[in-house]
Amino acid sequence: MISETVFCCYCGEMIAPGKRTIEHLVPISLGGNGSFYNKKDCCKTCNNDRGNLPLSLWIGRMEARLARSKTIALNRVLEARIENAKYWQHYIDTAGEKLYRSNEIFLLYIKRGFK
Ligand SMILES: [Zn+2]
Repeated sequence: MISETVFCCYCGEMIAPGKRTIEHLVPISLGGNGSFYNKKDCCKTCNNDRGNLPLSLWIGRMEARLARSKTIALNRVLEARIENAKYWQHYIDTAGEKLYRSNEIFLLYIKRGFK
């Protein structure tokens, strides 16, 4: 059996076997599709932390938590997640409709400012 090393798209940590989840950059509940473009490997911790929040909202919440954080360990995780999440936000802005189930849904969310 071939085992591949997989890293979390947010915290960047190696994902232990059994802890691997599939992250939809644009959540299915927000019109995201199941394409290769929208799916990334993610650890359970980051995936649970984001839930179904639009990425931009999650980044804002993590920045607020970082400002209140008093431990180096938490700072490191939040800083890595924020940096990577901003990278994926740029990717979402660039990839646009490729990530959505239909062009109509894409246009609807763009109009509402949801990403
Ligand atoms: Zn992670």
